[in-house]
Amino acid sequence: MPEFKLRKFPDPILRKEASCITKVSDSERESLSKMAEAMYLNNGVGLAAQQVGIAKQLAVIDVGNGLVKLINPLIIKKEGLEIEEEGCLSVPEAIVKVRRAKRVVVSFLNENGEACQITAEGLLARTIQHEIDHLSGRLIIDYLNPIKRLFLKI
Ligand code: ZN
Repeated sequence: MPEFKLRKFPDPILRKEASCITKVSDSERESLSKMAEAMYLNNGVGLAAQQVGIAKQLAVIDVGNGLVKLINPLIIKKEGLEIEEEGCLSVPEAIVKVRRAKRVVVSFLNENGEACQITAEGLLARTIQHEIDHLSGRLIIDYLNPIKRLFLKI
Protein backbone atom coordinates (compact mmCIF):
# COMPACT_ATOMS: atom_id res chain seq x y z
CA MET A 1 0.00 0.00 0.00
CA PRO A 2 1.44 3.41 -0.89
CA GLU A 3 1.91 6.10 1.72
CA PHE A 4 -1.22 7.92 2.76
CA LYS A 5 -1.71 11.47 1.53
CA LEU A 6 -3.48 13.89 3.82
CA ARG A 7 -6.86 15.10 2.55
CA LYS A 8 -7.73 18.73 3.15
CA PHE A 9 -10.95 20.70 3.18
CA PRO A 10 -12.96 20.97 0.87
CA ASP A 11 -12.15 17.40 -0.25
CA PRO A 12 -15.61 15.72 -0.36
CA ILE A 13 -14.34 12.55 1.37
CA LEU A 14 -14.15 14.59 4.61
CA ARG A 15 -17.94 14.93 4.53
CA LYS A 16 -18.59 11.22 4.02
CA GLU A 17 -19.95 9.15 6.85
CA ALA A 18 -17.65 6.27 7.71
CA SER A 19 -18.95 2.74 7.35
CA CYS A 20 -18.77 0.30 10.24
CA ILE A 21 -16.11 -2.42 10.24
CA THR A 22 -17.82 -5.78 10.58
CA LYS A 23 -14.68 -7.90 10.58
CA VAL A 24 -11.21 -6.67 11.50
CA SER A 25 -8.70 -7.95 8.95
CA ASP A 26 -5.15 -7.25 7.80
CA SER A 27 -6.43 -4.49 5.56
CA GLU A 28 -7.76 -2.55 8.60
CA ARG A 29 -4.55 -3.24 10.57
CA GLU A 30 -2.48 -1.96 7.66
CA SER A 31 -4.66 1.15 7.28
CA LEU A 32 -4.28 1.90 11.01
CA SER A 33 -0.47 1.64 10.86
CA LYS A 34 -0.31 3.86 7.80
CA MET A 35 -2.65 6.33 9.46
CA ALA A 36 -0.40 6.43 12.53
CA GLU A 37 2.58 7.07 10.24
CA ALA A 38 0.75 9.94 8.53
CA MET A 39 -0.31 11.38 11.91
CA TYR A 40 3.25 11.39 13.29
CA LEU A 41 4.65 12.73 10.01
CA ASN A 42 2.27 15.69 10.20
CA ASN A 43 2.74 16.24 13.95
CA GLY A 44 -0.91 15.57 14.67
CA VAL A 45 -2.42 14.12 17.86
CA GLY A 46 -5.15 12.26 16.01
CA LEU A 47 -6.26 11.18 12.58
CA ALA A 48 -9.48 9.72 11.22
CA ALA A 49 -9.70 7.51 8.14
CA GLN A 50 -11.46 10.11 5.97
CA GLN A 51 -8.37 12.32 6.35
CA VAL A 52 -6.43 9.79 4.29
CA GLY A 53 -9.27 9.09 1.86
CA ILE A 54 -10.96 6.09 3.53
CA ALA A 55 -14.58 6.33 4.69
CA LYS A 56 -14.35 3.62 7.35
CA GLN A 57 -14.67 3.68 11.16
CA LEU A 58 -10.93 3.85 11.90
CA ALA A 59 -9.02 6.42 13.93
CA VAL A 60 -5.60 6.76 15.56
CA ILE A 61 -4.70 9.01 18.47
CA ASP A 62 -1.53 9.85 20.37
CA VAL A 63 -1.70 12.80 22.75
CA GLY A 64 1.69 11.93 24.20
CA ASN A 65 0.78 8.82 26.18
CA GLY A 66 1.15 6.24 23.45
CA LEU A 67 -0.68 5.25 20.30
CA VAL A 68 -4.36 4.33 20.54
CA LYS A 69 -6.03 2.64 17.57
CA LEU A 70 -9.81 2.80 17.46
CA ILE A 71 -12.17 0.77 15.30
CA ASN A 72 -15.92 1.62 15.38
CA PRO A 73 -15.48 4.04 18.33
CA LEU A 74 -18.69 5.00 20.08
CA ILE A 75 -19.18 7.39 22.99
CA ILE A 76 -21.28 5.63 25.59
CA LYS A 77 -21.00 8.21 28.36
CA LYS A 78 -20.24 11.95 28.52
CA GLU A 79 -19.54 14.13 31.56
CA GLY A 80 -18.85 17.80 32.07
CA LEU A 81 -18.24 20.50 29.48
CA GLU A 82 -15.15 22.35 28.41
CA ILE A 83 -14.46 24.92 25.71
CA GLU A 84 -10.98 24.81 24.17
CA GLU A 85 -9.36 25.83 20.91
CA GLU A 86 -8.80 23.07 18.38
CA GLY A 87 -6.95 22.76 15.14
CA CYS A 88 -7.22 20.12 12.43
CA LEU A 89 -4.68 18.77 9.95
CA SER A 90 -7.39 18.82 7.27
CA VAL A 91 -8.35 22.47 7.89
CA PRO A 92 -4.93 23.98 8.66
CA GLU A 93 -6.07 27.61 8.47
CA ALA A 94 -8.70 27.33 11.20
CA ILE A 95 -8.43 27.42 14.98
CA VAL A 96 -11.86 26.97 16.47
CA LYS A 97 -13.22 27.06 20.00
CA VAL A 98 -15.17 23.85 20.44
CA ARG A 99 -17.39 22.85 23.33
CA ARG A 100 -16.87 19.22 24.24
CA ALA A 101 -17.48 16.82 27.08
CA LYS A 102 -14.69 16.84 29.67
CA ARG A 103 -14.77 13.10 30.20
CA VAL A 104 -15.99 10.35 27.93
CA VAL A 105 -16.32 6.60 28.07
CA VAL A 106 -15.77 5.09 24.64
CA SER A 107 -16.37 1.59 23.39
CA PHE A 108 -14.41 0.35 20.37
CA LEU A 109 -12.75 -2.66 18.80
CA ASN A 110 -9.00 -3.02 19.00
CA GLU A 111 -6.96 -4.23 16.03
CA ASN A 112 -7.53 -7.84 17.06
CA GLY A 113 -11.27 -7.29 16.82
CA GLU A 114 -11.75 -7.44 20.62
CA ALA A 115 -14.35 -5.23 22.29
CA CYS A 116 -12.66 -2.60 24.51
CA GLN A 117 -13.61 0.41 26.56
CA ILE A 118 -11.63 3.44 27.69
CA THR A 119 -12.41 6.28 30.02
CA ALA A 120 -10.69 9.45 28.86
CA GLU A 121 -10.44 13.03 30.02
CA GLY A 122 -8.68 16.24 29.05
CA LEU A 123 -6.88 16.28 25.70
CA LEU A 124 -7.45 12.57 25.08
CA ALA A 125 -11.22 12.95 25.57
CA ARG A 126 -11.23 16.02 23.31
CA THR A 127 -9.22 14.30 20.59
CA ILE A 128 -11.44 11.22 20.65
CA GLN A 129 -14.51 13.44 20.20
CA HIS A 130 -12.78 15.33 17.38
CA GLU A 131 -11.95 12.08 15.55
CA ILE A 132 -15.45 10.66 16.07
CA ASP A 133 -16.77 13.89 14.51
CA HIS A 134 -14.57 13.20 11.46
CA LEU A 135 -15.98 9.69 11.21
CA SER A 136 -19.45 11.17 10.85
CA GLY A 137 -18.29 13.79 8.34
CA ARG A 138 -18.20 16.67 10.81
CA LEU A 139 -15.37 19.25 10.90
CA ILE A 140 -14.33 21.89 13.44
CA ILE A 141 -15.46 24.67 11.08
CA ASP A 142 -19.03 23.42 11.61
CA TYR A 143 -18.75 24.87 15.14
CA LEU A 144 -17.95 28.35 13.83
CA ASN A 145 -20.64 30.97 13.64
CA PRO A 146 -21.55 31.95 10.04
CA ILE A 147 -19.92 35.38 10.24
CA LYS A 148 -16.55 34.01 11.32
CA ARG A 149 -16.83 31.38 8.62
CA LEU A 150 -17.42 34.06 6.00
CA PHE A 151 -14.38 35.94 7.30
CA LEU A 152 -12.16 32.86 7.03
CA LYS A 153 -13.67 32.14 3.57
CA ILE A 154 -14.23 28.47 4.45
ZN1 ZN B 1 -9.30 16.90 12.46
